[in-house]
Amino acid sequence: MKDPKKEPVVLPGDKLAVSEEFLPGVHTYDDSGLIRALTAGSVVKDTTNMEISVKPRVEPEQIKIDDWVTGQVETTQANSANVHIYFLNGKPTYKDFSGMLSLRGLSGGGRGMRRTTPVKLGDIVRCRVFSLLNGIIHLSIDEPDMGVVAASCGNCGKPLLRGSSTKAKCDECGNVEERKLARDFGASPINP
Ligand SMILES: [Zn+2]
Repeated sequence: MKDPKKEPVVLPGDKLAVSEEFLPGVHTYDDSGLIRALTAGSVVKDTTNMEISVKPRVEPEQIKIDDWVTGQVETTQANSANVHIYFLNGKPTYKDFSGMLSLRGLSGGGRGMRRTTPVKLGDIVRCRVFSLLNGIIHLSIDEPDMGVVAASCGNCGKPLLRGSSTKAKCDECGNVEERKLARDFGASPINP
């Protein structure tokens, strides 16, 4: 089985493998044991490292102010989060973009009103580009259409569903989590 065979083209959200078979590689994510595609492209299987990836087919574009991007929260700090950008204006992008999501704007206008957890590690978020100062892609999620579009339960790992405008709930274990949710949070498949 050494022959390189033509791999199929996949779309975002398509199931690629189960996590017992393959590790999630580039442009994929682990969705409760299923490896799914984050971008459109062709599937690449690395059988040495047992890693499955997606090779995007769309040329990258330059990011501009007022663009919107969708990506995954990689790290979080007190007032910001790092987002790995996978979609630019709804289209897959494979340039290694990361943006800095400012969480300061979510203070709700008064002291002590700050949401405790607007985003969490691993969340898929849709963000607006509001500044490119110092070569950093500055992102915000203040608008109703911006915010978390998909998240997993911190307790059991199952996908969270919409509970209210600011709360996501887990049907599996009853856990309720606070987030800055996008208007279409919980849609399946994800609308990048
Ligand atoms: Zn749960």
